[in-house]
Amino acid sequence: MPELPEVETVVRDLRPLLCGRTILSVIKTPEAIRRAGKHPWEAVLKNRHFESISRRGKWIIHQLDNKGHLLIHLGMTGQLLVQPKGHGLTDHLHMILALDQTFEWKFRDIRRFGNIQYFANPTDLALFWTKQNLGPEPFMVDRHYWATRVKGTSRNLKALLLDQTLLVGLGNIYADEALHLAKLHPEMRGQNLTSKQNECLLRAIENVLTESIKNRGSTIRDYVGGSGLKGGQQLNLQVYGRTDNPCFTCGNPIKRTVLAGRSTHFCPKCQLGQPRKSIGSYTKGDRTV
Ligand SMILES: [Zn+2]
Repeated sequence: MPELPEVETVVRDLRPLLCGRTILSVIKTPEAIRRAGKHPWEAVLKNRHFESISRRGKWIIHQLDNKGHLLIHLGMTGQLLVQPKGHGLTDHLHMILALDQTFEWKFRDIRRFGNIQYFANPTDLALFWTKQNLGPEPFMVDRHYWATRVKGTSRNLKALLLDQTLLVGLGNIYADEALHLAKLHPEMRGQNLTSKQNECLLRAIENVLTESIKNRGSTIRDYVGGSGLKGGQQLNLQVYGRTDNPCFTCGNPIKRTVLAGRSTHFCPKCQLGQPRKSIGSYTKGDRTV
């Protein structure tokens, strides 16, 4: 499932390809997408220009010139692409917009768990965000907020990091990677973390996400960026998907368990929850502190 680094990469790819472009027609509407809104798509989108592309959590936001907003969530297997007409794969395309200069905006989604919504004005959009109850962006977290929320719960760390009302953007991959970098066991409970461990965890999240954005996210299965390129971070993952392979730090086999209903990967030797002096950068060979 695309997480923050993948969605951020799509946004960065789409921005120069879309801003200023005009929607000439709606070639295909998204009825097959399980969570698509029901709108007169041609009427609301035709002849509109893209003014800006941004992100909130895992939502991709297209702001149009009439103050309307087209929102996309990639779900499990969604791909959002802007390519010349006739370029790229043609199966599983569930929404297509014809753009000027013979480009197409395409939403491709094999499993159809994506989400497509349209809001005609900023008020409706604001109401939607209120209902979503999203937590802060990982790079904009107030330290006091973070310390209070983590220390105030008996939930385990894996469940906490997946909770989008605490913090947006993390999914299974980067929650496991951040806990490994922070040397914290995923079953530890928030209330049992020391202040130093709590601070280390937040910095580990920032480091893991920064490095992953730099490498255009992880292509484990279907994810590609907005121009169709795959990500590269899957080559750098330290624990996710590495069950029984040796830990790059200590050589012990990586273990897999299930927490919060999700497969969870960790090193049983490195992640004992011993306090760290500081967080190293998230790269192989530079992990000592
Ligand atoms: Zn280890």
